[in-house]
Amino acid sequence: MKIGFIGLGNMGAPMAANLAKAGHEVLGYDTAAPEPEGVIAAASAAEAAADADVVITMLPNGQILRSVADQIIPAMRSGAVFCDCSTVDVDSARAVAEQASKAGLGALDAPVSGGIGGAQGGTLTFMVGGDEPAFDTVKPLFDIMGQKAVHCGESGAGQAAKICNNMILGVTMIATCEAFALADKLGLDRQKMFDVVSTSSGYSWSMNAYCPAPGVGPQSPADNDYRPGFAAELMLKDLRLSQEAAESSDADTPMGELATRLYRSFVEDEGGKGRDFSAMLPRFVGRSRA
Ligand code: NAD
Repeated sequence: MKIGFIGLGNMGAPMAANLAKAGHEVLGYDTAAPEPEGVIAAASAAEAAADADVVITMLPNGQILRSVADQIIPAMRSGAVFCDCSTVDVDSARAVAEQASKAGLGALDAPVSGGIGGAQGGTLTFMVGGDEPAFDTVKPLFDIMGQKAVHCGESGAGQAAKICNNMILGVTMIATCEAFALADKLGLDRQKMFDVVSTSSGYSWSMNAYCPAPGVGPQSPADNDYRPGFAAELMLKDLRLSQEAAESSDADTPMGELATRLYRSFVEDEGGKGRDFSAMLPRFVGRSRA
C-alpha cells in the first residue's frame, strides 16, 4: 500500500518505520522530527497524503489534528482512508471523521496503548472507531504495527475506549505509588511488597509491568531516573480528556477527578513536567498526611 504518515515523533517514527520495513511505500512528514529509516521525506503534509491509500496521523492533540486535517483532506484521493492514531478529544475525532466522509474518504479514530516500547516492537493495541470497510482496509497495517486491533464502534468510540483506559491507568498508578510510600513508612521492604502485591489482588499493569519503584519488578522508567516512557504531562492531558468527556456526558468519575488534580499539581507546581508519570512515587515519599 501507499501510506502517508504525518507526525514522526516518539510514537510515529517507529510505527512508520515498521510499515516501511514490512514493504509498504511510506511517505512521511513532520514539522520538526526527521523521517526514520525506510520512510521517504515529503515536503508537506498535503504531499505525504496526496497519493496515499491510507494516511496515518500521530500528533500531539486535537487542535493540531484539526489543522492537519484541513491541509490533507482536500489533497487526498477519493476512497482513501484517513486514520488518526493520536490521543485526542472525542469531539475532534468526530469532527475530523465527518469532514473526511463528506470528502468521500474513509475515516477512523484509532488511538493506541503500549507506549514507545510497543511502537518499536510492533505490539501496540489499537482501539478503533469508524465504519467497517475503513477498518478492514487498515487492519493489515494495524497487524504490522500492533498485536491487537479492536473495532469499538462508530467514530469517536476508539477515543472513548482510550480515555477510559487511561483514566484507569492514572488512578491505579497513583494508588500503586501511594501504597509503596505507605509501605516505606511501615518499614515494609519494597521487593517484598512487589512479591506479594504482584501475585495478589492488588496487582495491576502499573505494579506488574511498569513498577514505579526502582530496582523492583521488570525494567521500567523508574530504573532510568524516571525519564519517560510516558510523560506525566501526557497522562495529565489524557486525564483532562476523561474529565471533559465525563462533564459532557454527565458521568460521575470522582477517582478520575482526583487523579487529574494530583497530576495537575505534579506537572504544574511540583516539577513533574518532563518526568515519567510513575515519578508520582518519589512525590509521595517523604510527604506527610495533609
Ligand atoms: P511526540 O511529541 O513525540 O510526537 C508528535 C510529533 O508531531 C512531533 O514530532 C511533532 O513535531 C509533530 N507535529 C506537531 N505538529 C505537527 C504538524 N502540524 N504537522 C506535522 N507534524 C507535526 O508525541 P508522541 O509521544 O509520539 O505522541 C503522539 C500521540 O500519541 C499523542 O497524541 C499521545 O498522547 C499519543 N500516545 C503517546 C504514547 C507515549 O507513550 N508516548 C502512548 C500512547 C499514545
